[in-house]
Amino acid sequence: MKYLILILLLLGVFWYYKKKRVKAKQEQKSRQMEMCACLSCGIFFPQNQGKILKKGSQELFFCSDKCLKKYLFKEGERTCS
Ligand SMILES: [Zn+2]
Repeated sequence: MKYLILILLLLGVFWYYKKKRVKAKQEQKSRQMEMCACLSCGIFFPQNQGKILKKGSQELFFCSDKCLKKYLFKEGERTCS
């Protein structure tokens, strides 16, 4: 009877960790799939596939290097004039 309790306890711990790991995986997946709009062309894309420009505490998202450069070019034009 003593062993049965021990086995049940081990199973419980094992099940708990398994559940925890699956949850962490799911959270990671949902974070990767978070969509955001490109600031330059307005297209929607998964955050992990785009480019991030850190501007102070702000994070600006772009779908590609091209859009990032386009935005920086525009920004430069604005500050010059
Ligand atoms: Zn874009």
